[in-house]
Amino acid sequence: MLSGGLDSSLAVKIVADQGIEVVGVNYNTGFCLTDHRRKMYGMGAQIDPKSVRNAALAAGARWGLPVEIIDISDDYLRILTKPRYGYGSAINPCIDCRIFMQKKTREYMGKIGAKFIITGEVVGQRPMSQMRKTLKLIEKESGCGGLILRPLSAKLLEPTVAEINGWVNREKLYDFHGRSRKSQIKLAKELGLEEYPQPAGGCCFLTDKNYARRMQDIFRHSDEKTVTADQVMLLKVGRHFRINEKTKIIVGRNEAENLFLEKITGKLPRLNCCDVQGPLTLIEGSVEEEAIRTAARITARYSDAGMSEPVEVKVEFPNESTRTLKVQPMDVAQCEKMRI
Ligand code: SF4
Repeated sequence: MLSGGLDSSLAVKIVADQGIEVVGVNYNTGFCLTDHRRKMYGMGAQIDPKSVRNAALAAGARWGLPVEIIDISDDYLRILTKPRYGYGSAINPCIDCRIFMQKKTREYMGKIGAKFIITGEVVGQRPMSQMRKTLKLIEKESGCGGLILRPLSAKLLEPTVAEINGWVNREKLYDFHGRSRKSQIKLAKELGLEEYPQPAGGCCFLTDKNYARRMQDIFRHSDEKTVTADQVMLLKVGRHFRINEKTKIIVGRNEAENLFLEKITGKLPRLNCCDVQGPLTLIEGSVEEEAIRTAARITARYSDAGMSEPVEVKVEFPNESTRTLKVQPMDVAQCEKMRI
């Protein structure tokens, strides 16, 4: 199971170096950190190409291993809305997520005739999903008991099928534990791994508190079963404002985001300023007169016009009708009250 971060990159390399054929499996949940930036880059936005690389593919290429990317985004929304084991510190259902991914990997193992699963998990590294007891629970629930080799912490854990059968030499595995990444960074140097995504608190947007707030706002204001992939994607971009119970808006923060918002959602009404540089704003939900006026005032607030003069804002509707209205930019304090 290869995210392409430091730990999983090392884990697959350790096993591959024992002469074992390794295939990387990477899951697209819809909440990955780089997919929206990759889309922006593809649309021509000025973004550092290194920052949009799929980390799993990059790790596979570095070690000469094939990588299979499996899309689980449709099923994943169900896990997100009703996690049996609850959420972590944001809206991350890490335990259910790991169970689901391990189940999927077990299925994939059957398809390709693989004999065991490798993960980059380190005992005690993550409070929700990588404590010793939780690792066991996840393994049991996913039906992967004994199949999961964790090369970075293997010496602290019971021998797995791969070690018991002598396919992998346990002596050449490690006993890393805890939150510090010092041992992994040292090992990366020894193995010649110089570039990898910087270790952070999580591997997806669901551990981000801002993202979680926006997602919870969606849950509060819609039937959770109707959350769409487009909504999930839009939560990663722009400033978000709840302007009434039925309407929210998304305001681009820079050129790349404006381009992305413009291209990703042809179905939503959009606003931009007529005579000054300003953001692109999308309206999600009901488009009543008061909501349009509020959206226009917030759009004007983030334009290059000062706060004192009225600004002309154009509204384009999906049926291609347009209108313009002149509005006073909304003051900062009022905007912040609506900010999600
Ligand atoms: S951080 Fe995200 S991808 Fe990683 S285990 Fe938690 S929910 Fe799953």
